[in-house]
Amino acid sequence: MTASAPTSVDGLEARPTPATRVTAHRRPAWHAATVAAVSPESPNARRLVLDVPTWPGNDPGQHLDLRLTAEDGYQASRSYSIASSGEAPQVVLAVDRVVDGEVSPFLVDAVEVGDALEVHGPLGGWFVWRPGASERPVQLIAGGSGIVPLVAIATAHAEAADPAPFRLLYAVRTPEDVFFRPELDRAAAAGAPLETTIVYSRVAPPGAASPAGRLTRESLARAVFPPEAGALVYVCGSTPFVEQVLRWLGELGHDTTDVRAERFGGAS
Ligand SMILES: Cc1cc2nc3c(=O)[nH]c(=O)nc-3n(C[C@H](O)[C@H](O)[C@H](O)COP(=O)(O)OP(=O)(O)OC[C@H]3O[C@@H](n4cnc5c(N)ncnc54)[C@H](O)[C@@H]3O)c2cc1C
Repeated sequence: MTASAPTSVDGLEARPTPATRVTAHRRPAWHAATVAAVSPESPNARRLVLDVPTWPGNDPGQHLDLRLTAEDGYQASRSYSIASSGEAPQVVLAVDRVVDGEVSPFLVDAVEVGDALEVHGPLGGWFVWRPGASERPVQLIAGGSGIVPLVAIATAHAEAADPAPFRLLYAVRTPEDVFFRPELDRAAAAGAPLETTIVYSRVAPPGAASPAGRLTRESLARAVFPPEAGALVYVCGSTPFVEQVLRWLGELGHDTTDVRAERFGGAS
């Protein structure tokens, strides 16, 4: 068992790693949290940095449940992936506004620095990647806000200079919708680089390798490791996006037992 160092997702204050904190002690529990910082992540999304003094740390890829309590006692909770990992008593989230949603518009538009929230976690033991676990190639596939847990994984890979070859396929609508661009640029420039392909469905930036267009089975096949590479694949995004990608991976001959999926919801 090893304690992991905090990863440097922007907005997260790096703290020394207490040698006594180990993964096995990270049992999920409720924690009081305070909003430490908010910043726009895209025109439709916001980055939230939460101070969680009792946070036990989390692995790259894990998520938490966030609970809001209204003045009349009404409560609502939703799951959010964690863009940071390691031992810091802070977590970084990125929330996309779902039109007519109950919780996400509040988090994107109304929550302010100093507001109190509650979080339950860390959660999820399957959609996790740890540096040093294996030298197998890793393929990350994100649709929209599904990039959040994959940023935690890519950042941990880059900071550990882990030798596993890493690729990211990221499907977004426009260049403005790319989350965590500084972190992705850093991961791409790291000693153990992240090979990144961004597919823009509506507007591509000048000089993009391909014109704007929806992700297809063929463009996915061009961007990801071939089935014979035996990559471990992490797919995350809305439920329809994940289901479509899983179908294509199966049709292209990928071993589905090597694929881990996280579905954020939405009609399928
Ligand atoms: C493990 C996990 C991790 C998640 N991580 C993130 C994250 O990092 N960032 C993030 O922005 N969201 C994430 N989500 C989605 C999040 O939990 C909420 O579902 C989302 O914020 C919408 O909540 P809401 O209360 O605004 O909408 P609701 O009031 O719950 O729903 C309103 C309508 O929107 C639909 N809907 C709900 N969620 C989605 C969605 N994701 N896409 C499209 N339509 C939807 C519902 O079906 C409903 O019709 C995650 C979900 C899971 C299960």
